[in-house]
Formats: sequence, structure tokens, C-alpha cells
Amino acid sequence: MKKIRQPIIAVLGHVDHGKTTMLDRIRNTRVAEKEAGGITQHIGATEVPIEVIKKLAGPLLSLWKGEIKLPGLLFIDTPGHEAFTSLRARGGSLADLAILVVDINEGFQPQTIESIEILRKYRTPFVVAANKIDRIKGWKVVENEPFLVNIKRQDQRAVQELETKLWELIGKFYEFGFQANRFDRVQDFRRELAIVPISAKYGIGLPELLVLIAGLAQKYLEEKLKIEVEGPARGTILEVREEVGFGTTIDVIIYDGTLRKDDIIVVGGRDKAIVTKIRALLKPKPLDEIRDPRYRFDQVDEVSAAAGIKIAAPNLEEALAGSPVIAVRSEEEIEKAKKEILEQIKSVIISTDKV
Ligand code: GDP
Repeated sequence: MKKIRQPIIAVLGHVDHGKTTMLDRIRNTRVAEKEAGGITQHIGATEVPIEVIKKLAGPLLSLWKGEIKLPGLLFIDTPGHEAFTSLRARGGSLADLAILVVDINEGFQPQTIESIEILRKYRTPFVVAANKIDRIKGWKVVENEPFLVNIKRQDQRAVQELETKLWELIGKFYEFGFQANRFDRVQDFRRELAIVPISAKYGIGLPELLVLIAGLAQKYLEEKLKIEVEGPARGTILEVREEVGFGTTIDVIIYDGTLRKDDIIVVGGRDKAIVTKIRALLKPKPLDEIRDPRYRFDQVDEVSAAAGIKIAAPNLEEALAGSPVIAVRSEEEIEKAKKEILEQIKSVIISTDKV
């Protein structure tokens, strides 16, 4: 059975431009939680279900003609381009889409440029979050409301100031070969880069940002996001860590198929492929249910893409962050997966040698 999975979203940008604040704010979005299902915390990732986006967005959804069939968005919790470049999937990037955060008052900074170059190299579609608009002189904050609601409350001077800063940004993007525009003025999202003015600190513009990403993914990435749910899982290691009671575990983002608790997995190590059998699949307990910090996880029987999950298994000591995880269901597949992983290790070594 085929299904469309959640796009995996990465957040990039210069230090202090607000990446962490934005992710925190998204994580803490509360919209009629019970009704909408709320935000789910995965291992290393945060899931925003489509119901939440629809609730937040209201009339903004008309930005996209046609229905959004995606189940939601999965944000990688670790922002920055180091995480982005180290997390690969099938030779490309693990992230299907990215948000480039730029402090609208500071404009382009060295890591903004680095991020753009990386996104270009990986051909990752992205949108721009022009952050900290609350710092614009005279801006009257309307907390947790869309940008388009905020802009109506501003006086002429603040609006003008925002426009000037946006034009500076648009000019900079032009220098780097991108035609950019404020999101509500974009005619063709394939050719123009959309800029959403936001304030991560006050939650301004986040509804638009979420709707925009969901719409872009639906419109342009549907084919890529279509997966065979029951197929063997594929994922990328976010982190290798010791966990009391479980030994060495790997935190993995699954981007294809379904991982089952009795699967055999082939995992990338420093210079070899590790074949091991899963002992447990662990997901974080909801925070309010953790009574004893030693029992922070729930065990699950299976998990389908896209999701963040912790895997406990023997022999993971030499597993390497950024490497692939491939689930296999026959001897033949083990050999194929090992070969694929070894080839990838070789290509990474060669490409880092060049740097
Ligand atoms: P990161 O390095 O990109 O992750 O940036 P942080 O999220 O750590 O933010 C850096 C600083 O900017 C912190 O002091 C935040 O409180 C502040 N900040 C982030 N977003 C906003 C915003 O929208 N408005 C204002 N006024 N400050 C912000």
C-alpha cells in the first residue's frame, strides 16, 4: 500500500538568527490540542500533524488550491548546516525541504551564505523565514497571529520599514541568483523564493510558514514522498548514544518503509557495515508521564516513515552518525545492503578527502 509520508524539514541559518527559538515555538504550538491531536515529540524530531496546520491556518489554506493530503510535517530538532550536511539519504540530503532563517535586521551573514550554498548544492527546496520583525521600529506585536493579521495593525512607518528591509533581502538573494518575494506576492513558487516575515519570539507568521511548507511539499514533492509503507525501512542515524538499561542505541530518522521490532538491520559504521538484530524500538514518553527519569521511553512494535525512533540492538558501539540504516528481511538483502553501505562509506571518505 502506498501512502504519502510527512516531508522531513531542516532549519538552517546564521547563529543567533533564531533557529532554535523558532523550532521551540513550533513545538509549543497549542491549538485545541485534544481536538487536533497536538504536536508529537519523536526522537530527534517534532511532528506537526496536518490537522494542527489546518487549524492554525484557517483561510490561509486558500493559498493552495486543492487539498493538502500530507499527514503533516516532521521537523529535525537539530538546526544548522552541520547537521544538514551530515544527514544523508540515498546520496542526497535527508531533509526534503528547508527553512532558511535570516534575522531581517541583520540580513545576510556568513552562515546565511554558507547555508544557501549548501541548499543549492543538495538541490533542497527552501523557504525563507525573515525573523525578528517585532524589532522593527514601532512594530505592534499581535502574538501568535499570522503575519497578515499583524501587518494590518501597523502604522505606515513600521510597514515602510518592513518593506525597506524586505527589499534589501530580496536584493541580496538576487545577487545569489534567486528571485525572491514576500510569500503573498509570489506568482510561481517553482521559480520564486518565498519570504515569510516572522517573529519566532512572539509566534508571528508561523501559521503562514507552516502552511507554505505543507503546500510546497504537497505541490512539488508528492512523488518523492510517496512510499510503500509496508516495505523494509530505510533511515539515517542522527546520533549514537548510551542509554541506561539499553547499552549503545542509535537515534534514527526513518524516511522510507516500516521498521519492525524483530527486523534485522544493516547499519553504517566507521569503516564497515554492521549487521544486527533489533532488541527494542523506543519512542519518548510524553513529558507529563515521566515519573521516573530512568524510564523515559515506551517500546513500540513498529514505526512507519517518516519518524524519529531510538533503536536498541547489540554491536552498535561503532555505528556512525549520518550513516544509513537499512532493514532487511532475507540473506540476499543483507549482502545487498552491506554493499550499498560500504560504497557510501567509500564515497564519503573520498569527498571529505577533497575538502
Ligand atoms: P539560533 O542560534 O539561530 O538558534 O538563535 P536562537 O534561537 O538561539 O536566538 C538567538 C537570540 O535571538 C535569542 O536571545 C532569542 O531570544 C532571540 N530571538 C530569536 N527570535 C527572536 C525574535 O523573533 N524576536 C526577538 N526580539 N528576538 C528573537
